[in-house]
Amino acid sequence: VKASANEFDDDLQAQQTRSFDSQVKSNLEKLQEERKTLPVFSYRDELLRAVEKYQVLVIVGETGSGKTTQIPQYLHEAGYTKHGKIGCTQPRRVAAMSVAARVSQEMGVKLGHEVGYSIRFEDCTSEKTVMKYMTDGMLLREFLGEPDLASYSVLMVDEAHERTLSTDILFGLVKDIARFRPDFKLLISSATLDAKKFSDYFDYCPILYIPGRRHPVDIFYTKEPQADYLDAAIATALQIHVTEPSGDIMIFLTGQEEIEAAAEVLKQKTEGLGTKIGELIICPIFANLPTELQAKVFEPTPSGARKIVLATNIAETSLTIDGIKYVIDPGFCKMKSYNPRTGMESLQVTPISKASARQRAGRSGRTSPGKCFRLYTSYSYQHDFEDNTIPEIQRTNLANVVLTLKCLGIHDLLHFDFIDAPPTEGLIKALELLFALAALNKFGELTKVGRQMAEFPLDPKLSKMIVASGKYKCSDEVISIAAMLSVGNSVFLRPKNKQTYADNARMWFQTGNVGDHVALLNVYNEWKETNYSTEWCAENYIQARSMKRARDIREQLERLLGRVEIELISNPDDLTPIKKAIASGFFPHVASSMKNGRYRTIKYPQTTYIHPSSGLARESPSCVLYHEMVLTTKEYMRCVTEIEPKWLLDVAPHYYQVKHVKNSGSKSSLAEEGGPNRTDNFLGSKTFHLPTRRLQ
Ligand code: ADP
Ligand code: MG
Repeated sequence: VKASANEFDDDLQAQQTRSFDSQVKSNLEKLQEERKTLPVFSYRDELLRAVEKYQVLVIVGETGSGKTTQIPQYLHEAGYTKHGKIGCTQPRRVAAMSVAARVSQEMGVKLGHEVGYSIRFEDCTSEKTVMKYMTDGMLLREFLGEPDLASYSVLMVDEAHERTLSTDILFGLVKDIARFRPDFKLLISSATLDAKKFSDYFDYCPILYIPGRRHPVDIFYTKEPQADYLDAAIATALQIHVTEPSGDIMIFLTGQEEIEAAAEVLKQKTEGLGTKIGELIICPIFANLPTELQAKVFEPTPSGARKIVLATNIAETSLTIDGIKYVIDPGFCKMKSYNPRTGMESLQVTPISKASARQRAGRSGRTSPGKCFRLYTSYSYQHDFEDNTIPEIQRTNLANVVLTLKCLGIHDLLHFDFIDAPPTEGLIKALELLFALAALNKFGELTKVGRQMAEFPLDPKLSKMIVASGKYKCSDEVISIAAMLSVGNSVFLRPKNKQTYADNARMWFQTGNVGDHVALLNVYNEWKETNYSTEWCAENYIQARSMKRARDIREQLERLLGRVEIELISNPDDLTPIKKAIASGFFPHVASSMKNGRYRTIKYPQTTYIHPSSGLARESPSCVLYHEMVLTTKEYMRCVTEIEPKWLLDVAPHYYQVKHVKNSGSKSSLAEEGGPNRTDNFLGSKTFHLPTRRLQ
């Protein structure tokens, strides 16, 4: 009997399903085999015994030994998820996402089910989730809802050596939890050998060392300091590609813009190399890289080709990319720096530490002997580089953390159990700022505004701007602006051969010199009017991906508005209330015009300029508010809006007095004479020789 077409189809389908299943299975088997080859695997039993015996444990193991992906799985396999979740914190969002994705693959489950991740504005977990990777900042926020972390049975504070602000604060909080929750297990893991400090802090807990496999790495220095490290890095990479045997390359750069510029140049230069030279596959990896592109860096390199990974610090210890044989280290990273005297912060390209340089070099010797090309002199390494990176808590604005701790009922900040205390000056500055923002009253107690602000996972200046938008009846507009600011500097595209078109398109959103904040609002609203059209984005040189992210963030901000009982009100016709709401949060970031495009910040005088990318760069309004300060060749204010100085007395009466406002907003000689014409160096007395860099 002939089978009917239908039955035949069913049969075929069944067959296909079977072969698909077996493919998945063999993939899983392969991954299981790979798991067993990681250095941490031989310590599995020892580790589980130690966790059972001790409540707190410090684990040290080289990058790539399998700490992040394996240890939570071992604990899960040993039953630690029966009565609670296993949490694992990461300082970087990309690491949390990528590691969770890997672990879900290894376990053969769907990401977001048993294994999930949680990063700011993105929660990929469900009720099923028992292994949760998250940023340290997100766990800190979870404390607000669950101060004893009752839903966790084990917490692994990973990458402890990074000493981010959130990790340092978590130390103090989880140490306390470990004391009153005997069932709670705490693992502190680190990629460097400074474990004794962690152990001492956690009441002299035991340390477990996982020896890594390390191959020798040859280190090369340049004979002369490099004038432009990006050029030097690209030249070195091309030279390796043409002359060195197979093996992938990794270049450490400072940020997305630099990485994209390098990718562009590399693409152009390799096109001219001819067919004799193998293909160079360019893989960027940085914090804001869209999820769908993140997996690409982990894909094995096809034979005959060479992969070149352009990474930020993220690849120093957070992510392990197999197959790297050549590392190019220009010796810089982008760091937030903070002047505790003035309370001002800026982003700045800074020399790395010796410890970082060693980590970077180590990335080339993981699977075979490697080579590391340091684009600085050996003398410079010996004499200019600090031994270790200063913990973030000692070089950053603490306002956010102070607000969180206040919400947790921790009032006596001076006696909080810090692993390294922040400078008292920094704490006082944070309290002053929160007071000026009206988040704290004069007794240092949390106000209603402060409580509302703490609901938003944002910098206090941004959350204050949102809370103030209730008062100014323009919350609808202000949360759009906040969402656009939160996606970073990736909204406007500027393709190499179409810069004039792109700049014109961008200026369109500025019509009427509305300022960069309102321009962002215009972009958002116009996009919304096109029903979120991707074509519209392309036509207007707008990054569609960033817009979608802004929409997601905006939705969440809208929900949070509801939670703090601020009405969603739109006031599209009057820009003044919008600007006043922004000023209610960003009043510390105000500068007034001097001569020749120069500006000076008005409370703590410092010379600065409007960034060339701003729509107001050519306008030179007399008084401006800025979103952030960046240091490239000069101190630049990025994202700028004109304001009226007199508003400052209204929105920040505890911060500004009449004398500040009087001198600003006029190009009078009085203001000009006000202080020495110099740029405050945020790093204090220590000045570095920074190579000149092109403007970004
Ligand atoms: P550690 O935390 O000790 O630095 P990891 O657990 O992150 O080590 O890495 C162990 C192994 O898992 C490495 O070989 C790494 O390449 C691999 N790995 C980690 N994340 C991914 C990923 N997203 N895709 C593919 N491989 C990954
Ligand atoms: Mg790790």
